[in-house]
Amino acid sequence: MIDVAIIGAGPAGLTAAIYARRSNKSVVVFDANGYGGQILNATEVVNYPGLKSVSGLEYSKTLYEQATSFGAEIKFEKVIDVDNNDEGIVIKTEKNEITAKSLIIATGAKSRPLGVADEEKYIGRGVSYCATCDGHFFKEKDVCVVGGGNSALEYVLYLANICNKVYLIHRRDEFRGEAVLVDKIKELDNVEILTNSSISKINGDNLVQSVDVKIGDEERNIEVSGIFVAIGHMPENGNFAKLVDIDDSGYIIAGEDCKTKTPHVYVAGDNRTKYLRQLTTAVADGSVAATYACKELDK
Ligand code: NAP
Repeated sequence: MIDVAIIGAGPAGLTAAIYARRSNKSVVVFDANGYGGQILNATEVVNYPGLKSVSGLEYSKTLYEQATSFGAEIKFEKVIDVDNNDEGIVIKTEKNEITAKSLIIATGAKSRPLGVADEEKYIGRGVSYCATCDGHFFKEKDVCVVGGGNSALEYVLYLANICNKVYLIHRRDEFRGEAVLVDKIKELDNVEILTNSSISKINGDNLVQSVDVKIGDEERNIEVSGIFVAIGHMPENGNFAKLVDIDDSGYIIAGEDCKTKTPHVYVAGDNRTKYLRQLTTAVADGSVAATYACKELDK
């Protein structure tokens, strides 16, 4: 029997692991996709207090090493079901089944797809959701970025250094992301900003060759080899519906105490109902959830 099982090895999950291990609890963390979560996609994190600048990759590696050095066991396995019985909380993965005294769900969120025909077919053939992971494949080529938040703006700044030309396609004429990033982009000669715009069609053969873009009432074909989608994220909480309440947008309902409706089941990070989804709030959740979980076990 494990004291604390954690699903998700991103910042929230690994922080929870550190706190639970430091309370001397046995900890197993599950993640099907490796460690790091969404922060891996951040080229540069500059708003984490105490760290002036760090890459998402560097930050994730350090956090992973920190959690394992405290003795957290990390299993790269996909969790397919969770339920509870008289013994505890049963976590089923594709390979194993374990029972834990408490569970922290820290599964974060995944990239929201554009929803344009053939998008899925072109993933890895031109369509990407991570500029820092895939940008180098498009060296000196023309690409577009879709979105108007900080992620899209950061993608543009990153890709403009690598690619020949970058089109920024955003559905409104105002950007959700920070003005300082928009100003930086406007200074770049190889970036064209298309507002009130959306991709209506992806064209290609084996690889992406162009996109049809609706700009207001006009339609324009733009030749690009890469389409970087940065239109936000969606939580993946379907597996946990037996144990937690989920709101209309798919987030697990919990307050700042990270407690769900089920005793000993907590939620931490971007997959929880909350106002601000940031690295700082994810790690805060991880520490809060683990502290409550351990206190309950000590009672
Ligand atoms: P976001 O802030 O939610 O922005 C998503 C963008 O995609 C919005 O501009 C939205 O348009 C657009 N969008 C949503 N659905 C769309 C659709 N179906 N078709 C076309 N466009 C669509 O997401 P994000 O940029 O991933 O950022 C998430 C959070 O992480 C934010 O709090 C952000 O500040 C933070 N973040 C921080 C850093 C950093 O500090 N280094 C880096 C990246 C992200 P509308 O504006 O019209 O709604």
